[in-house]
Amino acid sequence: MNNFYNLVDAQKKTVRRVAQRKGQTMLCPKCRKPLVVTFERDIVVDLCEQCHGIWVGRVDEKRLLNVKVESFSMDELSQFRKAYQPWGRMETSGYVPCPVCRELMYRKNWGSYSGVMVDKCSEHGTWYDEGKFEKVREYVSLGGIEYEKLRVMEKGLEELDSRLYKEVKSLDGRLRNR
Ligand SMILES: [Zn+2]
Ligand SMILES: [Zn+2]
Repeated sequence: MNNFYNLVDAQKKTVRRVAQRKGQTMLCPKCRKPLVVTFERDIVVDLCEQCHGIWVGRVDEKRLLNVKVESFSMDELSQFRKAYQPWGRMETSGYVPCPVCRELMYRKNWGSYSGVMVDKCSEHGTWYDEGKFEKVREYVSLGGIEYEKLRVMEKGLEELDSRLYKEVKSLDGRLRNR
């Protein structure tokens, strides 16, 4: 499996560099070991060699996930709706600190439908436990992000629909009571 840990394994002979931000060593939010700097293409990914989780900076996430907008047809999205199995359990406990600012991060289902729980600092980036980034990448490549937009639109339409229905009902009532 092409995960980030194996990637580092392949580069074992290269010099390890401890990840730092603002002059502070970045620690793994889960095991508190210093993170080491790795790369995918030219993008920095900070890795914990103990738990194999990774830290992805806020601006790098889109590039790393190779997000292409509006490249999915309605057909593909309805396939996604039928076939996609959300991943993992919804862990909700155990808030952990951001490796950069050390504030507690919030836990989030990545993109609402992926089922991949990640820890997120809205200012600095996202922590992915081992294997989760690959799951998110799969979700995105199958059209997850486009599917979310479709769901938002559908929800909006449903709400508009029920609002219109209520208004017609009350108008109807008022006309009857005249
Ligand atoms: Zn760790
Ligand atoms: Zn932070």
